[in-house]
Amino acid sequence: MAANFWDPSEGLQGIFDIWSFRHLESVVASGVGGGSLIYANVMLRKDEHWFVRDQGPAGGYESWPVTREDLEPWYDRAEKMMGATGNPYPYTDRTAKTQAMRRAASRLGMDWFRPPLAIAFAGDGKRPGEPIPDSADNIHGVARLSCRLCGECDIGCNDGAKNSLDFTYLTAAVRAGAQLQDRSEVKEILPIDGGYEVRYVRHHADNEGIRRGTGVPPKTVLRCRTLVLGAGTFGSTFLLLRNRKAFPGLSPALGTRFCGNGDLLGFVLDSPDKLNASYGPVITSTMRVPDELDGGTGRGYYIQDGGYPGFVDWLVEAATLTGPAKRAARFAVRTDASSPADRRPARSATSWPHWSDRASRLPARCRCWAWAAMSRMADCGWRTDIWSWTGVTRAPGSISRPCRRR
Ligand SMILES: Cc1cc2nc3c(=O)[nH]c(=O)nc-3n(C[C@H](O)[C@H](O)[C@H](O)COP(=O)(O)OP(=O)(O)OC[C@H]3O[C@@H](n4cnc5c(N)ncnc54)[C@H](O)[C@@H]3O)c2cc1C
Ligand code: SF4
Repeated sequence: MAANFWDPSEGLQGIFDIWSFRHLESVVASGVGGGSLIYANVMLRKDEHWFVRDQGPAGGYESWPVTREDLEPWYDRAEKMMGATGNPYPYTDRTAKTQAMRRAASRLGMDWFRPPLAIAFAGDGKRPGEPIPDSADNIHGVARLSCRLCGECDIGCNDGAKNSLDFTYLTAAVRAGAQLQDRSEVKEILPIDGGYEVRYVRHHADNEGIRRGTGVPPKTVLRCRTLVLGAGTFGSTFLLLRNRKAFPGLSPALGTRFCGNGDLLGFVLDSPDKLNASYGPVITSTMRVPDELDGGTGRGYYIQDGGYPGFVDWLVEAATLTGPAKRAARFAVRTDASSPADRRPARSATSWPHWSDRASRLPARCRCWAWAAMSRMADCGWRTDIWSWTGVTRAPGSISRPCRRR
């Protein structure tokens, strides 16, 4: 696991790129295909009434400059391209966690549905995990398998069952004549006469495992008429900030007022239902809680099941071991955690206090729906624990000064 992080100066060229700032932490993916390699495949359209922003303590809402209607044609195109159109999760009857969510929703009187997933599922009469016919015509030149329900979506699908960007948009771009170059990190961008200059370094596979300053590899120079930055929320902003001198027109607000997406991970403990969380894609079903803007009484949100890979079952088992077996497991975890990647200041959530304690450390607005979500689960007879949350700590944050970034 320790080798799966991205930090070429430490010899790491893995898929997880951890960004750490004073008030914000986040994990993004660094491979060809970006976040789609590790995302949970859910393709939801933003709720029609939720295109607003709170006005502040005085109350009221300000509408965003774009509406759902404006985005509708683009949602259509993206869903089609990603293979999510008309593709809700098809195996409800097989996966215990999906059934448990449906039962819970029914007991609570909440909306429940199967979200569209950008995953290639086996068709009628076929078993999960079979080869997909004629599927090798992609940038990797490798035939894909249909989803085998292994729960590994958030650590990268090794079967090609996820319709990630490498299999969709990037393959289409290459077919249309685009050149794609992996292991290339843009360092500098600057305007020149008639266009832009881009300077990047290549991190060769041979250098994996070798510590070296990323200033060492020579920079390759590219010139172009039009430059489109698509390095993600952090990557694009970071590049602009790093090259600010070359772009004097940039606003001083760049890199400020950042907020994570506010996802919360909660754990269901001692469930009376068998959940078998490592069987099925990471997310298979959704409960929707309406906002006060569309019929609810508070802030709207979604509750989804979250599975995990089978090896996590072993860790969970280890957490409930006793005696020598427990000491051996603890030793293994400690040994792994002492590797350079895990010493990064990004995250160290190792203890599991009661969820209310974790919730109390969230920003106030986030906290109210965290409480609401966990209380809903408790109403259903499940004991719950907030373990971590994606991205958000104390929003809004500033990303002008990363704690650790080369
Ligand atoms: C665990 C997880 C689960 C998620 N689940 C869902 C979900 O189910 N549904 C959903 O809609 N969203 C989900 N998301 C969010 C979604 O993945 C992101 O919103 C999306 O990937 C953002 O796309 P992007 O193109 O803006 O940036 P990214 O996908 O981050 O792509 C940016 C790319 O630029 C590269 N890059 C950065 N800097 C440089 C540089 N200097 N030089 C060269 N390349 C650079 C990065 O390595 C990356 O490959 C999830 C995210 C995570 C982390
Ligand atoms: S469940 Fe497994 S096979 Fe299916 S999409 Fe996720 S990682 Fe791929």
